[in-house]
Amino acid sequence: MSVLPTPFVERIKSSTLFDDKLLAALDEEAPISIRFNTKKTLQAFNETQSVAWCESAFYLKERPSFTLDPLFHAGCYYPQEAGSMYIHSVLKTLDLPENPVALDLCAAPGGKSTLLTSFLDNKGILISNEVIRTRANILAENISKWGYSNCFVTCNDPKDFKKVPNLFDLILIDAPCSGEGMFRKDIKARAEWSLENAQHCSLRQRRIIADVWDSIKEDGYILYSTCTFNPAENEENVSWMLENFDCEVCELPLFEGMLKDSLNYGYYFTPGTTATEGFYCVLLQKKEVFKSNKKPKTNKTNFVSSQLFQSLIDEKIEHAFFEENDNYFAATPFSLDIYSIIDKSLFWIKRGVFVGTKQKKGFNPEIDLALNFSLRNTSETIELTKKEALQYLHGDTFPLEGTIGFKLLTYKGETLGYIKHLGNRFNNLFPKEWRIRMNLPTDII
Ligand code: SAM
Repeated sequence: MSVLPTPFVERIKSSTLFDDKLLAALDEEAPISIRFNTKKTLQAFNETQSVAWCESAFYLKERPSFTLDPLFHAGCYYPQEAGSMYIHSVLKTLDLPENPVALDLCAAPGGKSTLLTSFLDNKGILISNEVIRTRANILAENISKWGYSNCFVTCNDPKDFKKVPNLFDLILIDAPCSGEGMFRKDIKARAEWSLENAQHCSLRQRRIIADVWDSIKEDGYILYSTCTFNPAENEENVSWMLENFDCEVCELPLFEGMLKDSLNYGYYFTPGTTATEGFYCVLLQKKEVFKSNKKPKTNKTNFVSSQLFQSLIDEKIEHAFFEENDNYFAATPFSLDIYSIIDKSLFWIKRGVFVGTKQKKGFNPEIDLALNFSLRNTSETIELTKKEALQYLHGDTFPLEGTIGFKLLTYKGETLGYIKHLGNRFNNLFPKEWRIRMNLPTDII
């Protein structure tokens, strides 16, 4: 393993907070953890131990091939660094309205967004934002697979959120950072690290916070996190926030091994002391009163009668259907209301559930619909073997009995996506960008 950068080692050694246990642990194997999607099939794993601060999350004894598990593609679970899952416990302590308006500002690939959507459980709205377009697409894919109806994905620079002042009850800023927590898993991170870059990250984080400050409501929360041990990117940034904005630091729930930062604001999860790769988290509440009497303008929504979508299962979750540019979408009524207010201000990658494309009669269904757990057409499903499921996810076509038309393919009862059956063969409609790229092993059962 390559050596750790010398200035980093010196900083840790001279710190009163961290000790040699952290440096030693960075040379050990990282723990593997996953979080289940409680709305989908619970996959049987060789679980060793649950994650103390996150229900439905477990450490695995060894890393299986997630790519070769169809239930991973179906959004039944999400492999996630255990420290990050701590936000689950933090979210439970917040005093939020019945329908919270939440923003995950730096959201790709979507670990914390999927956690947030599970927490919201189709109440309120989650806007997951990612500034880098290619990463925003991956974010949208992971949100689709998680299957909720109140999630929207944007691809905007944080400063664009100035256009939507006083909107959010909660903003999660999982900031781009110098990534010292990655030193354990990703050796490249050691080579890429530099003092200058760490300094640059700290300044960028301040800019990001300042850019979205006005879009937080009075008494709204800012959950700020990084995966680095650098105080300049963590507690020193909190000091800067307290000096520059009217806000207060909130109490956080405690678990064994958490280390209070050197300025008594937030907490570190460090490898060697906790079974994590490294995580910093602090919670603040905005106290500033918003001064403006400008009423937000609502954009017109082109509602579509739900008659057209009668064949879709609705597990007691109310949906509103709407049309944009010959595409049909569905969303929870509350999330659609918020979207209507801010529609023109942001660049949307995903608007609620992309149900399908408009046809003369009805619509052609989209993958987003297939993966939504409360709103999918299960009248014409075909259950696949594991081999067939992986071939489908690989983009292949193979002999499959069935009648002509759109069919929803399932594996262990969990939906994977659509095909268009032509009687003697089928067109594979699984999105090209989502397909398994590796060659499938010949010995798959
Ligand atoms: N929250 C994500 C999760 O749990 O899966 C991980 C987010 S990662 C730590 C930080 C993200 O910030 C990256 O996706 C990165 O592309 C994005 N980013 C990079 N520069 C940014 C900037 N200037 N403003 C906002 N986000 C930025």
